[in-house]
Amino acid sequence: MPTRRRFFTQAFISSLVIGGGLSGCSTDPGSVGNKGRKKADPADLPAVIATWKTEAAVTKAAETLQQTGSALDAVEAGARVEEADPKNMTVGYGGLPDRDGFVTLDACIMDHQGRAGSVTFLQDIKHPVSVARKVMETTPHVILSGDGALQFALENGFERINLLTPEAEAAWKKWLETEQYKPVVNIERHDTIGLLAIDKNGNISGACTTSGMAYKMHGRVGDSPIIGAGLFVDNEVGGAVGTGLGELVLKTLGSFLIVEFMRQGKSPQEACEAAIQRIIDKYPEVRKEEIQVGFVAIDKTGATGAAAILPGFQYTLHQRGKLTTADNLPGVMK
Ligand code: ASP
Repeated sequence: MPTRRRFFTQAFISSLVIGGGLSGCSTDPGSVGNKGRKKADPADLPAVIATWKTEAAVTKAAETLQQTGSALDAVEAGARVEEADPKNMTVGYGGLPDRDGFVTLDACIMDHQGRAGSVTFLQDIKHPVSVARKVMETTPHVILSGDGALQFALENGFERINLLTPEAEAAWKKWLETEQYKPVVNIERHDTIGLLAIDKNGNISGACTTSGMAYKMHGRVGDSPIIGAGLFVDNEVGGAVGTGLGELVLKTLGSFLIVEFMRQGKSPQEACEAAIQRIIDKYPEVRKEEIQVGFVAIDKTGATGAAAILPGFQYTLHQRGKLTTADNLPGVMK
């Protein structure tokens, strides 16, 4: 095995070690989960929240929500903005490749009826979130992967393109000089985009899209396309979406956990903090390494929350007709 590959595998592993049905279809936004915690203020609906400083995506999602009334259309439209942006090097076209130079994409989508679709390890397609939606709407499956996902996309009219931009290729070639696997926390400030939208009737959808960790092993799939890990929506309760080191989110099923915390009566903010605390408690290695994981969440009343392991996380919110970005949030880790 070439030295580069062996080194990278070791570095990667050490970095990880240290480093149904229609029942959710209620249109009553009046209570959260089974606790009936608070009455919704109708002015809080509709709303869109997304990870990171993603104003263009959230604006597009909010406009779409206003035009179509559909939270599902909104999250897809918002995700597509980032997927098409070559300057966002962690999502879609222009995403940084894996260690072998391939851009491989993960995305998923989930709606208020509890339907879900996902693609993993998809290459050569600019809008994986739309392929995920097609999987959800036209197949009996939830996840299509790799060549099968590509074949499905091509059969459904998606265009095959080269996703590796000259900028991403140059960054990869530079990385090859050292081959050090060490994701730089918060640096890109534009990591995986996860969006949650709630319509005026309190129906929630979510989407998540990413090119995954830069210079990952070929074939690696993160949390972002995995329902319950990178994204989860239960229309009776709320939704959550994650970003950061996907392996930690996968091992704790972070988004599902947040929705379940909200079902038990926690606010979205308390639920996000508790899920981050769970990661810190279960994986004390995060105390020694600069590892970031962040979540955003929304509940049935339109209340929102966000939390991350380390300071510096951001989210963008469109609510009550206003776009705001919360910058440089404090970390949960003490
Ligand atoms: N969660 C993504 C992954 O692990 C990465 C990210 O959010 O930047 O693939």
